[in-house]
Amino acid sequence: MITVLTGGTGGAKFVDGLRQIVPPEELTIIVNTGDDMLWWGLYVSPDVDSVTYMMAGRLSQERGWGVKGDTFFALRAMGQLGQPIWFHAGDRDLATHILRSKLLSDGKTLSEVTAEIAAKLGIKARILPMSNSRVETRVLTPVGDLSFEEYFVQRWYQDPVESVRFAGASDAEPAPGVIEAIRTADIVLLAPSNPVSSIGPILAVPGIRAALRESRARIVAVSPIVGGAAVSGPAGALLAAQGFAVSIGGVADFYRDFLDVLVVDSRDFQAAEELRKAGLRVSCAPAIMRTVEDRVALAKAALAAAMQPPTMEAAAENL
Ligand code: GDP
Repeated sequence: MITVLTGGTGGAKFVDGLRQIVPPEELTIIVNTGDDMLWWGLYVSPDVDSVTYMMAGRLSQERGWGVKGDTFFALRAMGQLGQPIWFHAGDRDLATHILRSKLLSDGKTLSEVTAEIAAKLGIKARILPMSNSRVETRVLTPVGDLSFEEYFVQRWYQDPVESVRFAGASDAEPAPGVIEAIRTADIVLLAPSNPVSSIGPILAVPGIRAALRESRARIVAVSPIVGGAAVSGPAGALLAAQGFAVSIGGVADFYRDFLDVLVVDSRDFQAAEELRKAGLRVSCAPAIMRTVEDRVALAKAALAAAMQPPTMEAAAENL
C-alpha cells in the first residue's frame, strides 16, 4: 500500500507518474486543502481539483491547472458583471465547484464530496482531503495578511513573505482514513510539492506528523528544490521565510523528524553526499518532470528508493 502527501502542481505531476505504475486499489492520495477558498460563493479546493483531474486524465497539461480543453465563457461574463476574475475558473471546472458546493450545502463532508466526484470521474484510487475542518494557509506580507491564492495567483507571489501560518489548524482533525492510510502504508511518499505551503498545512493538522513519526512505512520525500532553487513557484521564498535553507538540506530539515530517504536531482549529487555524511539516506535521480516519461521515471525512482535496503543502497553507490 502506497500513500502520497501532495499539493497541486509539482505534486500532481508526480501523482501522474505514480498512477501509471501503481494499481489504483493500492494508492491513497492525501491532499492539501490549505488553499481552499470561496470564489463567487462557491467552495473551491484547488489542489484536490488538480489531483482529481490528473487522476481522471483531465488536467490541462499546458496550463497545469483546470480541465483540459476548457472554455472561459462564465469567467468573461462574470467580469462583465463587475466580479473579480483573477482566479481563472473554466466552465467545466466551474461545474466541479458548483457540484462540490451543492453537496457541502446538503450536509456532506469534504471527504464524502471528494470521493463522490472522484467516483463520477471513474477514479479508483483513494483521494482524501487532509481534513474536513477548515484550515487556511495565510501569508503575511508588507501589503497584508493574504490567503494563499491571493498571494500566489492574484499577486504572482511577488510580495516579500514575513511568515506563513495555518489558521484553524490547531482545532482541525485529520479527515477519516488519513491517519490509517499513513500508519498502514508500506511506503509513504511526499511529492515534490512546496514543503511550506502544500505539505506544511497537512503536517499542521494535529496527529498527522505523529502518525508519520510512528508509521512503520518507509517515508520518502522527493525534493522540489533542484540546484538550490525551486523548480517553479515560491517554495524558495517560503522556506527562507520559515528559517530553512533553500537547498536539499533545507528540505531534509523540514521533514527531519520522520524522513527515511530524500530523492534529489542528480545535479545535486555533491550536496547529497554532504547529507549522507550527516546520516541521511539520499537517492539521486533525474527529478525534473518535463515529459510523461520523466514523471513515470521519477515515480519509479522514489519507489525504488523506498524499497532498497539501506545496506544495498550503500553498496550500490560504492561501486
Ligand atoms: P501547488 O499546490 O500548486 O503549490 O503545487 P505543489 O506544491 O504540489 O507544487 C509546487 C512545487 O513543485 C514547487 O515547489 C516546485 O519546485 C515543484 N516542482 C514543480 N515541477 C517540478 C519538477 O518537475 N520536479 C521537481 N522535483 N519539483 C517540481
